[in-house]
Amino acid sequence: EVRTRIAPSPTGMMHLGTARTAIYCWAVARHFGGKFLLRIEDTDQERSTPEATQVILDSMKWLNLDYDNQGAVVYQMQRLDRYKEVADSLLEKGFAYWDYCSKEELDAMREAQKLRGEKPRYDGRWRPERAAELGLVKPEGVKPVLRFRNPDDGDVTWEDAVYGPITVSNTELDDLVIMRSDGIPTYNFAVVVDDIDMKMTHVIRGADHINNTPRQINLYRALGVEPPIFGHLPLINGPDGKKLSKRHGSVAVTEYKKAGYLPEAIFNYLARLGWGHGNMEKFTREELAKVFVLSDCSRAAARMDFKKLAWLNGQYMKEADDSRLADLVKDRIVARGGDLSKADLVKVCALLKSRAQTLEELADDAMVFYGPYTPVAEDIAKSLENGGREAASLALTKLEALPEWKAADIYAVLKSVCDEQGVKFGVIATPIRVIATAAKKVPQIDQTLEIIGRDAVISRLRENLA
Ligand code: GLU
Repeated sequence: EVRTRIAPSPTGMMHLGTARTAIYCWAVARHFGGKFLLRIEDTDQERSTPEATQVILDSMKWLNLDYDNQGAVVYQMQRLDRYKEVADSLLEKGFAYWDYCSKEELDAMREAQKLRGEKPRYDGRWRPERAAELGLVKPEGVKPVLRFRNPDDGDVTWEDAVYGPITVSNTELDDLVIMRSDGIPTYNFAVVVDDIDMKMTHVIRGADHINNTPRQINLYRALGVEPPIFGHLPLINGPDGKKLSKRHGSVAVTEYKKAGYLPEAIFNYLARLGWGHGNMEKFTREELAKVFVLSDCSRAAARMDFKKLAWLNGQYMKEADDSRLADLVKDRIVARGGDLSKADLVKVCALLKSRAQTLEELADDAMVFYGPYTPVAEDIAKSLENGGREAASLALTKLEALPEWKAADIYAVLKSVCDEQGVKFGVIATPIRVIATAAKKVPQIDQTLEIIGRDAVISRLRENLA
């Protein structure tokens, strides 16, 4: 069974890059009919918060990334006993040892190495045989860290599912701290123990972890476990080609929710960012799962295109169900001071959805129907010049006589006024718009009038044409 996981650290928001990784992990699992799991890597106690964990859970839910361990999410801080158990077994087998170096000693070691032009690395002085050679004595009162005894020579090679074969020489790797002095495991150790226990077959993560992978593979070997398939994803850059950051725009999933993006648009956009299959641009989750393979991921950094994202969201808005949009936009209208009782929101969404790229824009546009009616006398006077008054008055008479208040009938009235008066459509549409809506710009006038309603339209026209 194929098993993948997303393992975010709850130290703030859920970054778009994490969301994209989660989408790929999800897609691999679904493609093979396997499992996709969520693990919260909360061992950095200073930076981890329950709020940030909640943001991750909410973002996963919003993006519809249905993980298979709902209600059984793995939290690293609940597994300290297990890490200790595995650490003890490594210690027992001679794959790990206690290191009693103080911070000052480590600093001095690093300084000396730098002076000699060497790369700073732990020199292995507390490996038992070295410590004996050097005659080191355990200092009193120092809580040691546990280090992994990395192999001294040979290479670590893996076939990366995205980058292809990668080889790192063990001489590049020093003895990694696996347990801190406070009994908290380090990232590289906890991740290996967890991925083994969670039976991961594929570890898919950002390319910023490539340097960690050979260390982790050595840990797998020491534990006698076959490593999973690793796939690393190139990072996401901003439009200028530099690492994506707040300077470029929002980088947190929740910001897009707030800005009125639809989750399926974000899902689609992120999936397509750094992965491609033929000419697939707009696709559903199911379509992605069907064709997704890691080897189709690009090895070059992806470039975020905020305009394309907004455009894609507009496409999803256009196709979205009217009552769903109504549901999603209503709070935004209320937040703008709108009065929802004034017009049928489902109809308003149907009318406006193809013009708005986001729910925020939709809410702005919808205020024509829900905001206070504030006509401007000057604008009205101007709209009534040059035949406007005559056209509007005739239209009023005909609208009053309409048996039914339907856009098509309203349109027929306006059109007949144009024909009878020999004027262009604008001559009638402008005063009607200005008087009936007090807005600078509206969608199709006939549909707008239908939604505003007969009573409001007729009384506004009467008042201003008397
Ligand atoms: N907590 C790590 C991160 O957020 C997980 C990396 C991994 O998937 O191994 O970068």
